Amino acid sequence: MGQVASIGIDAGSTAVKIVGIDKNSRILFHITEPTEPKIEEQVKRLLRKIETELGVDISGIPITATGYGSSLILEARKRVTEITCHAKGVFTYFGHGGTLVDIGGQDSKVIVVGNRGQVIDFVMNDKCAAGTGRFLETTAWRLKIPVEEMGKLALSSSQEVPISSTCAVFAESEVISMLARGKALEAVIRGLHRALVKRVVAMIDNVGLVSPLILSGGVVCNEAVQKMIEEETGVKPLVPEHPQLMGAYGAAIIGLSEEV
Ligand code: ADP
Repeated sequence: MGQVASIGIDAGSTAVKIVGIDKNSRILFHITEPTEPKIEEQVKRLLRKIETELGVDISGIPITATGYGSSLILEARKRVTEITCHAKGVFTYFGHGGTLVDIGGQDSKVIVVGNRGQVIDFVMNDKCAAGTGRFLETTAWRLKIPVEEMGKLALSSSQEVPISSTCAVFAESEVISMLARGKALEAVIRGLHRALVKRVVAMIDNVGLVSPLILSGGVVCNEAVQKMIEEETGVKPLVPEHPQLMGAYGAAIIGLSEEV
């Protein structure tokens, strides 16, 4: 492994992501783990793991934190908002701005990123589970389907059962009642994805789509979410190789410079 020049930590409400980069912004290592109740101890353990298992001496390396639990990361030299970090991450990855849609476990954001990686405008939904990963997770848990399988299941159906509830709790009940009425599981799950994506696209419409459309956040690992965003906007989105890491990657990049 090359010389680690900066570490970014995105302590999200659902997952903790850590990225180490070299001075040319190349990712050298990354870790993703479900968020534990004691984020502070979890991050300490992960940083120890980086030292012992990867042989990285972290003592002189700048650590930049973002995400919902960032204030708990005492090792951090800087704390930066998720919006700035996601914008910086995708800007560095693609080399240009656009309309960035970040769909996380418990919030979603639409961020207009300028041609220097700066945030021009954004909207955020962190008040309600609709339009976030939680919307799919509650139903996945109830049906005992791994959340990573939900997208494949949705895409395996050519039929789609509309789900009208926008609330995650009511949508789960609606799914159960559709299944009880004999609707095919795949078609119902497809409808559930459509409801999530329509909610996200309404946010994009609020801000106004400035091309290109770029996706980040763990939920866009879901191939049905990607495909339906394309169907609903009419624009093929750009997706980085590791969409869930973009916040931590952006934090690491900010740590390389003294700009914040
Ligand atoms: P946060 O920063 O809010 O913790 P993340 O951007 O880390 O959120 O995304 C977490 C969400 O991504 C969870 O809802 C999780 O279910 C979803 N997710 C992560 N990996 C996958 C995958 N491979 N397929 C589908 N969903 C995924």
